[in-house]
Amino acid sequence: MLTCQGLTELVTDYLEGRLPFTRWLSFQMHLGMCRHCRGYLRQMKVTVATLGHLPPEPMPPAIRDELLRRFKDMRSA
Ligand SMILES: [Zn+2]
Repeated sequence: MLTCQGLTELVTDYLEGRLPFTRWLSFQMHLGMCRHCRGYLRQMKVTVATLGHLPPEPMPPAIRDELLRRFKDMRSA
C-alpha cells in the first residue's frame, strides 16, 4: 500500500502521466481513501496551472511542512 510520503514522491510523475499502470493504480487507491493527499494533489494542480509547469522541486517547502504537520495530527488523532 502506498503511503502519504510515497504518494508525494510520485505526484510529479502522476501529473505528467509518467506513472506505470500499477503505480498509477496504487496512487488512485490512496487518493480514494486519503483526503489529505487529495488536498495535496489539488494544491499541486493549482501550482501547475499557476506556474504553467511543475515546480523544479517535487514539493514546495511550505506545502511539505503543512503536510507533515497534518500527517502528525492524523497519527496522534
Ligand atoms: Zn495520503
